[in-house]
Amino acid sequence: MAQDTLRCFMEIKEFQNIMRELYAHNDRRRGKDKTMLWLVEEVGELAEAVRREDEAGIREEIADTLAWVGSLANLYGIDLEEAFLEKYPYRCPTCGQKPCICTD
Ligand SMILES: [Zn+2]
Repeated sequence: MAQDTLRCFMEIKEFQNIMRELYAHNDRRRGKDKTMLWLVEEVGELAEAVRREDEAGIREEIADTLAWVGSLANLYGIDLEEAFLEKYPYRCPTCGQKPCICTD
């Protein structure tokens, strides 16, 4: 346990596996639509924390948002690491550059 708390990085696959181990049974029972609603609710809470410039709240809500993205990906059998690299293969998918040269 101490080793876990001292680690300072985690691979995306590991994150997704942990989410699966912790919550797959709850995610399946809740279903895709309700899991999506929870994700939207967390994004709303993140927006509220950003609006208040509540740095501790932003930290907490951004973690919750990531967790719900993991749950949703698991329900759809999507490998987040693969999906991300397909869309963002170390360069901007719009301009094809690194760093991006798009204006926004
Ligand atoms: Zn770009």
